[in-house]
This record gives sequence, structure tokens and C-alpha cells, in this order.
Amino acid sequence: MSRAVIALGANLGDRGSTLRAASTAIAALPGVRPVASSREVESTAVTLDGPDTTKPRYRNAVVVVETELRPQQLLDALHGIEDAHGRTREVRWGDRTLDLDLVAYDTETVDTATLTVPHPRAAERAFVLAPWLDADPDAVLPGAGPVADLLAALGDDTERVDEPRLFDDPGRPDEPQVRP
Ligand code: AMP
Repeated sequence: MSRAVIALGANLGDRGSTLRAASTAIAALPGVRPVASSREVESTAVTLDGPDTTKPRYRNAVVVVETELRPQQLLDALHGIEDAHGRTREVRWGDRTLDLDLVAYDTETVDTATLTVPHPRAAERAFVLAPWLDADPDAVLPGAGPVADLLAALGDDTERVDEPRLFDDPGRPDEPQVRP
């Protein structure tokens, strides 16, 4: 079993419901077991030209899973979940009902035409780092360092959404903690 970190984002439609449905669908994938999830954060949309406050704001979250799927198999499954939520891909960096990124897969590096892991922009994105840290306080971005340090260096411009974690996680104590 490998441990995979998946970032979820949405800036169109009922974003919270979409993130919840997507995390449920991820947890239900064959060969996938949920481990931990973050609460949601909200942040300004980022385009190729930088932050754009005229665009609908994003909701983001991170889920950690254990999986028997190889990285590309997992990405294919994530694309299936994106498609089920009406994601269209015409516009890169465009608005989207659901975006799922494979942020990390154990400490493996993957560099193919369709998949780069760890995700090359994860270290620059507070909307990935902040929820990842919320899901797993000991998280490390392979090749870059502890997520807590990366987020401290970057600055956290996200706003925590006051709602429960995406996974119903009865084993979780009050403080966030990844199951062993
Ligand atoms: P975007 O529209 O920005 O979400 O880009 C999606 C494309 O990025 C997909 O076609 C993937 O094949 C590719 N991609 C490369 N690396 C990753 C990754 N780590 N997670 C998700 N998508 C990836």
C-alpha cells in the first residue's frame, strides 16, 4: 500500500457539496482507503496572470489515502470523478466545478507526459499546503521539506471554513492526527 495526497478545489456551483461528494467518491474507489482529511479553506482564484479577485473564490481541501493503485491509475480514477462533476477542460487555469490533483505519492517522483509527482506547484500554493497540514501535521512534501515550514515561508492567505472535515472520521481525536 502507498500513501497518496490529493488536493481538491472548486470555484463554481455548490463548492462545499462538490468537495464532499468528491471526497466520498475518492474514499469509495476500489483499492483506496481513506486515512485523513482536512477542513475546507477558501482563497482567491489564481490565473496565469496571478490572483484574480473578480473570479469566484475557491474552496480547497486535501485528503490523504492509502492505495493499491499506481500513480497514473489513481490519476485516471480522479479524472473519472472530475468528469462525473461536470468538469470541462477547455480552459487551463479556468474556472472549474472540480479540480483534483495528485500532490504526492509516498516519496516517489513521477515525470511523464500526463503526470508529474510531487505536484510541481504544490510548494507555492497555500491552498494546498494549509489544508494538507490540517489533515496531517507531520506532512512532508518530498524533495521540498516539511509542509509546516513551506507554509510558514510562503505565508498562509487562505481562510478556514468553519465546517467539519470532509471524511466522517470517528477515530480522530480533537487534534488533527493521521491514523497510523
Ligand atoms: P489542470 O487542468 O491544470 O488541472 O491540469 C490537468 C492536467 O495536468 C491533466 O491532464 C494531467 O494529466 C496533468 N497533470 C500532471 N501532473 C499532475 C498531477 N500531479 N495531478 C493532477 N494532474 C496532473
